[in-house]
Amino acid sequence: MTKALHIVGGGMAGSEAAWAAANMGVPVVLHEMRPKVATFAHRTSDFAEMVCSNSFRSDDDERNAVGLLHWEMRTAGGLVMRTAQKHRLPAGGALAVDRDPFAAEVTAHLKAHPLISTSYEEVTELPSDGNWIIATGPLTSSALAESIRSATGAEALAFFDAIAPIVYAESIDMNVVWRQSRYDKGETEEEQKAYLNCPMTKEQYEAFIDALLAAEKTEFHEGETAGYFDGCLPVEVMAERGRETLRFGPMKPVGLTNAHQPDVKPYAVVQLRRDNALGTLYNIVGFQTKMKYGAQTAVFKTIPGLENASFARLGGIHRNTFINSPTLLDSQMRLKSRPHIRFAGQITGVEGYVESAAMGLLAGRMAASEILGQPIAPPPPETAMGALVTHITGGAEAKTFQPMNVNFGLFPPIDAKGGRRGRKDRYKAYTDRAKEAFTEWLS
Ligand SMILES: Cc1cc2nc3c(=O)[nH]c(=O)nc-3n(C[C@H](O)[C@H](O)[C@H](O)COP(=O)(O)OP(=O)(O)OC[C@H]3O[C@@H](n4cnc5c(N)ncnc54)[C@H](O)[C@@H]3O)c2cc1C
Repeated sequence: MTKALHIVGGGMAGSEAAWAAANMGVPVVLHEMRPKVATFAHRTSDFAEMVCSNSFRSDDDERNAVGLLHWEMRTAGGLVMRTAQKHRLPAGGALAVDRDPFAAEVTAHLKAHPLISTSYEEVTELPSDGNWIIATGPLTSSALAESIRSATGAEALAFFDAIAPIVYAESIDMNVVWRQSRYDKGETEEEQKAYLNCPMTKEQYEAFIDALLAAEKTEFHEGETAGYFDGCLPVEVMAERGRETLRFGPMKPVGLTNAHQPDVKPYAVVQLRRDNALGTLYNIVGFQTKMKYGAQTAVFKTIPGLENASFARLGGIHRNTFINSPTLLDSQMRLKSRPHIRFAGQITGVEGYVESAAMGLLAGRMAASEILGQPIAPPPPETAMGALVTHITGGAEAKTFQPMNVNFGLFPPIDAKGGRRGRKDRYKAYTDRAKEAFTEWLS
């Protein structure tokens, strides 16, 4: 008899993983703690509950990375996209859904599947044997989080994300910005030039502080508290503490010489640090923020060199349990120290309903293939699923790892061998290449 796969968490990832594995002929036990144990965000006991917005974001599979992920999930027979399509609401180019009937139908499909059984209990410890996928999401129960922490180490499990905005490298004006690490620190030239620096005059700095103070901010959700700010203060809160706080913190101008104007000492400097091995993404150092998205774009584009910046993701601070996947997981999403356990969904450090469901689909397929004695390779990095899994299991910088949405900055550059094209054409080239590679991988 085929061994069973146990999946903990009936959210976006767990639901998709259960469907994928059961459809490959592997019996699944889906463990869900709701309704016995509640979270502050879930309202129902349904699987795949959308806890906040009712949108799966862009459905454009030709020029948008999340739309491409929709396409890959549909092509792979995913349950979430299929059901979302059935309960679609008018929302322009976005895939918005009627959330309650959507979740009810996902639940009904999973419960009706002859190979899926359910257990409505909290799992409080990482299991010592069997085949498991942990997909307990950003609000993993405290008991299980504690068990993960003791298995992986305190440094490897975060309870909050503190996300600084991430900028596409190609959109940074290198005529203004220069490469240099503070005091040229580092053994190699690469290390000595690891940061990008944006110089500010006194007038620019003062105007920037005014803009930060005036910007619209978001509030914490119920159940989150500002006490969690310790050690990761939002940039606007630092500005509120005093107009000079940032100039003595993340924006201090010391140890840096402007390569474009060596004789002019900058009054303040904003630094950006490489965010992925490909060097296509840079995060703005120390700029985690609770500003509203529109305000972030407006304020950050006043930074010299970032006037035309395009953002792969904007900043935020949320309650979010996630592991340091680049150090803990192998390319099969298995915990290196306990390979009978996979992780999937938001707890792996992807961000969003779609990304979480996609990682569930992948983990479900990988686990089922392994149980059936025919392990599969991860999808190639040219695909949206492959780009995401490559990022979390090794492509991302482990030291500064924070949750990530799918975006074209995670894909191997398409114009690497020369030739430049317009942004829309480039995105289309990415999605054409991805679809071909994904179809080949699936077959
Ligand atoms: C307040 C809040 C708002 C959000 N808003 C959005 C948004 O608008 N758009 C967006 O794309 N993403 C949003 N997210 C992120 C969102 O949670 C994820 O995108 C997605 O739900 C993650 O899917 P998942 O399957 O990894 O986790 P979840 O969907 O959260 O599923 C995890 C499941 O595991 C269960 N569980 C937890 N611990 C245990 C345990 N020990 N034993 C058994 N079961 C357990 C939980 O009850 C839950 O059902 C938000 C997150 C939060 C916390």
